[in-house]
Amino acid sequence: MAESVRRVAVVGAGAAGLMAAAHAARNGAEVTLYERNDRPGRKLRITGKGRCNLTNACTTAEFMEAVPRNARFLYAALARFAPEDTMAHFEALGVPLKVERGRRVFPVSDRAADIVDALVTDVRRAGVKTVHARVTGLTVADGAVTGVRTAAGEFAHDAVILCTGGMSYPGTGSDGDGYRLAREAGHTITPLTPSLVPITSDDPTCRRLQGLSLKNVALRIVSVQSGKTVYDDFGEMMFTHFGLTGPMILSASAHIQDIAPGKYTAVIDLKPALGDKQLDTRLLADFTKYANRDFLNAVGDLLPQKLIPIVVERSGIDPRKKVNLITREERLALGALLKGLTIPLRGFRPIDEAIVTAGGVQLKEIDPGSMASKLVSGLYFAGELLDLDAYTGGYNLQIAFSTAVLAGEHAAWGC
Ligand SMILES: Cc1cc2nc3c(=O)[nH]c(=O)nc-3n(C[C@H](O)[C@H](O)[C@H](O)COP(=O)(O)OP(=O)(O)OC[C@H]3O[C@@H](n4cnc5c(N)ncnc54)[C@H](O)[C@@H]3O)c2cc1C
Repeated sequence: MAESVRRVAVVGAGAAGLMAAAHAARNGAEVTLYERNDRPGRKLRITGKGRCNLTNACTTAEFMEAVPRNARFLYAALARFAPEDTMAHFEALGVPLKVERGRRVFPVSDRAADIVDALVTDVRRAGVKTVHARVTGLTVADGAVTGVRTAAGEFAHDAVILCTGGMSYPGTGSDGDGYRLAREAGHTITPLTPSLVPITSDDPTCRRLQGLSLKNVALRIVSVQSGKTVYDDFGEMMFTHFGLTGPMILSASAHIQDIAPGKYTAVIDLKPALGDKQLDTRLLADFTKYANRDFLNAVGDLLPQKLIPIVVERSGIDPRKKVNLITREERLALGALLKGLTIPLRGFRPIDEAIVTAGGVQLKEIDPGSMASKLVSGLYFAGELLDLDAYTGGYNLQIAFSTAVLAGEHAAWGC
């Protein structure tokens, strides 16, 4: 007698849901994909500033280092569907890819929409039925999932894969609904915190420098108590009315989850290409060139206009002092200031401004080899809903894809 076809529900048509649905269907299941938005992949469309950094062309060992917590959980998922598989998958779907700095992978077109379109076409070709509805509950009987509930009623399924995402950028549809569904099914949700998020500061300097973007600077985040550097990087950052943002700051936030007012300071090296001695030689040269100018008007070659009043104030040197009267000590102190502009940090911006949500469905309640719930039979998880997050560089989408492939296949197989 032929085995009956398994009816699989996938909740959420984001990165994980689209991938899981296609894989479940290709493995013989009758798949229904539920999405609350009228179109799929809303968050995906804004990833990588609209260019979608879909994965990172790195080894598994390197990948693990980009996942600050619970990385070991990912071994099986990455063994089944590694970054190279993601790349091959999208190339096979007709999206040529390119690898940029830091092995970040993007579509050649620089269009995130091409990634969404490829996934949507794949889902359609695999025979997945898509339903525009918010799943409001799961139906569970005798420890096994039996279906989903929507405003239109209850629908029977043999397996349900929850792919509802995190709770950042809630306007995209990922507003944390899935945590409630998981909790109602008996799962534990670890504390939800923002990651890859702008950082606030009480220093009025930030407001004064609002809009100033610094490129090619070095950043260190230093623990005030121990003096230890907990994060260092080189690149771009920006001042805003509330504090700091930009690529380096977002990355830094993933390394300092225990942030609290006064606990950390950002130390910005405005001249990382110059050693202390070279910088002093440079200052001396500029001061010789502008020997008769006031100090305030003698640092324009070294600093962006907006920064000048801040640096002048912090140097303690009289802005009207003639440069040829500046002492060696004053000049050395100025050099030290340029190598270490400090901004005390306060905390993170709210979770809805974060790129990812840290925390989620507790991993010890999930089988890492199948993404199946250990508590409710027939229930599976994939993507950001899990207690997994990574640094910037394409890792978060890869986590969504890898966990989705495992969940899709195992939900279809029923094991
Ligand atoms: C601005 C921004 C830029 C980013 N850039 C990158 C990048 O370049 N590279 C990278 O790796 N990562 C990036 N990320 C992170 C990445 O987008 C997420 O980690 C990834 O989308 C998570 O995939 P997911 O499928 O788990 O969730 P999502 O992609 O968030 O999808 C979840 C889906 O579930 C739907 N849903 C939720 N609840 C329900 C419900 N009850 N019923 C029905 N449907 C529901 C939502 O509408 C949504 O469509 C970025 C994030 C943001 C916010």
